[in-house]
Amino acid sequence: MDLANPAPDLFEAEHRSMLAARAAYDADLQGSGACHQALGDLLAAYERLLRETRRLVRRSDRAELEMTLLNQRLQDLARELEYRATHDPLTGVLNRAAIIERVNQHAQQHDLALIVLDIDHFKRINDSFGHPVGDTVILGVVDCLKTTIPPSAHIGRVGGEEFTVLLPLHEANASEQIAQTMRKAIATREFHLPDSSRITASFGVSHLLRGGCFDDAYGFADEALYVAKRSGRNHVVRAADPVRSHVACSQ
Ligand code: GH3
Ligand code: MG
Ligand code: MG
Repeated sequence: MDLANPAPDLFEAEHRSMLAARAAYDADLQGSGACHQALGDLLAAYERLLRETRRLVRRSDRAELEMTLLNQRLQDLARELEYRATHDPLTGVLNRAAIIERVNQHAQQHDLALIVLDIDHFKRINDSFGHPVGDTVILGVVDCLKTTIPPSAHIGRVGGEEFTVLLPLHEANASEQIAQTMRKAIATREFHLPDSSRITASFGVSHLLRGGCFDDAYGFADEALYVAKRSGRNHVVRAADPVRSHVACSQ
């Protein structure tokens, strides 16, 4: 309720009529007879009617306000639920299901590039310094990705320390360049590890033609990532050809 701007009195005219009738009735105190008596009774009943009506209106205003607040809370909760269902709780990037859905949706209309990356020798970080330090490394890597991707890109966490980046409409050379920028950002970032060691990640890049689906693009990028790992890690490897689905994709 806005105290600075109180709501207008709905019954102002009735109230004024009642005051006028009350004044006339009081001025005629000597009045007698059935009409005078009836006016007195009518005034008393009308005053009570106005009082009760005002009380009911106030109650209904309060109920409406509560309903509006509840509705807002419900909308906030629905937004929060939607966010939780689609985002990774540690890093805030899209979760596995959400990035898969986004890639599949995008691929229905456009070509795209997919970058898959995996942190190198990450188990060593957990084993040497503990899981919480491992978590801060994951957060640092995501930070590097966020600062290097174009605004149209989407980051998803597809596994523990493995991420997928969707680059809408990117052709292969540009995507490889973006992956290289990510790789360098991670390799040169100061992670403040107790032994001052650096962190690196390996990258696979694939290019999916319109009509393809996540599984195809991911499969080829993952193969390229495997080659990057095998060739010494901290590398970007691009899948040879654009991926075109020959079979119907299950979305
Ligand atoms: P490689 O270079 O071959 O990738 O070696 P790696 O040690 O990184 O091996 P791998 O990718 O298989 O390691 C995954 C590890 O990530 C194992 C798992 O304990 C750890 N991990 C998965 N999710 C999380 C997480 O949320 N937090 C932390 N701290 N560790 C995680
Ligand atoms: Mg790894
Ligand atoms: Mg891994």
